[in-house]
Amino acid sequence: GQDSLFSADDPAARIAALRREIEHRSYQYYALDNPTISDGAFDSLMADLRALEAAHPELVTPDSPTQRVGGYVGEQFAPVVHEQRMYSLDNAMDLGELDAWMERVREACGGSLPPLCCELKIDGSSIALTYEDDLLARAATRGDGTTGEDVTVNMRTVRDVPLRLREEARAAIAPGVGGLELRGEVYMPKKSFELLNVAAVSDGRQPFANPRNAAAGSLRQKDARITQNRDLSTFMYAIADERALAVDGQWELLQWLREAGFHVNPDVRLCESAEEVRDFCRVAIERRDALPYEIDGVVVKVNAFSRQRALGFTSRAPRWAIAFKFPPEEKTTLLRDITVQV
Ligand code: NAD
Repeated sequence: GQDSLFSADDPAARIAALRREIEHRSYQYYALDNPTISDGAFDSLMADLRALEAAHPELVTPDSPTQRVGGYVGEQFAPVVHEQRMYSLDNAMDLGELDAWMERVREACGGSLPPLCCELKIDGSSIALTYEDDLLARAATRGDGTTGEDVTVNMRTVRDVPLRLREEARAAIAPGVGGLELRGEVYMPKKSFELLNVAAVSDGRQPFANPRNAAAGSLRQKDARITQNRDLSTFMYAIADERALAVDGQWELLQWLREAGFHVNPDVRLCESAEEVRDFCRVAIERRDALPYEIDGVVVKVNAFSRQRALGFTSRAPRWAIAFKFPPEEKTTLLRDITVQV
């Protein structure tokens, strides 16, 4: 098209066109929970933009999609400003890129690889739950990372979300801490997603493209009774401010979250070597189809909070974690479902 006519000698025009395209697709994905291209196609637009920006660093702007958390804050929910930003994750598209990341971590940690916590990457929607005096006070989506949407009423209907923290969890909470913000993923099991779409088609409604959009769309309902009738679950894995707890790493945090009453994914491993991490990734790929919920990769995190703090964040993602993405396989499902929509 016209863009490609300009692209060869005008990187600025090509960059502008890519950003427009990415923003348009992101709006449909995040705001309307209704993607119009496959994730693979979206990721390659992002890869093109990243490559162009790397070749022309003077054209990088702070509002470029490569520099921020992709997301959306809708009008139908009250905005919630996150006390600590919610980040996305950088990706490793294959084991080679994962090795390169571990190598960078090793260097940054004085030449030896620190223990790494491996978790499944749940393909759902990010959620932040705030507990005040042990009680669930607020639930918010990630939104653009700085501001999310208040979905408290909807999240209260999700059955595995504790409305009160268990007593056993209290001992680890630092004295004087009023609120605890805990984070994780809301997801819809594969089976429930399929049933929901069968029902949608027979009612003449638009089906969801994948379980992730189904989870996000079910959560972001104006009428919480609709959310209540959707089969949503959570896996919790993070805390906004780890100084609020007497735990010193990701592994210990997961044990605490379980004690506090949260649903925590059992497939975690604290790895001491790069080979163990690669092993975890291989096993996850093999087990992927057998799991009742969708995963799209493995998240590898530097375990110790002190090291995480030393490594810090870029504008959109932590340097102490990486998402090892599985090779895409479910594009046909997505395309088939989109064909159903049009
Ligand atoms: P992401 O979903 O790939 O990764 C970051 C998220 O992973 C975190 O925010 C967190 O919610 C989640 N996560 C799951 N399990 C986790 C765990 N154990 N520990 C930590 N985090 C965990 O990144 P993103 O920026 O939210 O979205 C990008 C994805 O969305 C890409 O796959 C992209 O293709 C897709 N997308 C598609 C379209 C489209 O039009 N098809 C548009 C926009 C985005």
